[in-house]
Amino acid sequence: MDLYQKVILDHYKQPRNFGELSGDCIVAERDNPVCGDDVKVMLLVDQAGRVGEIKFTARGCALSIASASMMTELVLHKELDDARTITRHIIRIFQEKQEPGQLDQYGEFSALKGAFEFPVRIKCVLLCWHALEDALQGIGNDS
Ligand code: ZN
Repeated sequence: MDLYQKVILDHYKQPRNFGELSGDCIVAERDNPVCGDDVKVMLLVDQAGRVGEIKFTARGCALSIASASMMTELVLHKELDDARTITRHIIRIFQEKQEPGQLDQYGEFSALKGAFEFPVRIKCVLLCWHALEDALQGIGNDS
């Protein structure tokens, strides 16, 4: 079944950047009562104003965990503004059901386009992205 492609299962079974960040990191948590997923995203901004480190912990379905795992890889070392742009774009693609082909630019993450056909599961995919959006909003533009 398309919804659970190999790449999704791989990220689910071996999530990247899974764990806790120590120190003075920015934390955002979200949960999805519909599916029982919850996710906590932690990130550290480096001196160049980029996502220096990002980790997450989560409990939930394969889609929510695979999405979070791929998300950390997509935004790690990105400028904060670029990370915000990617986050907004991905949320918009799923919420507005835009062309799934727009996800192709995000590499492995495009495997999650299978969720387009299952509206309930879009919440699973976007859970971590909403948490990341919260985290990025919590960062001021001051240096
Ligand atoms: Zn879920």
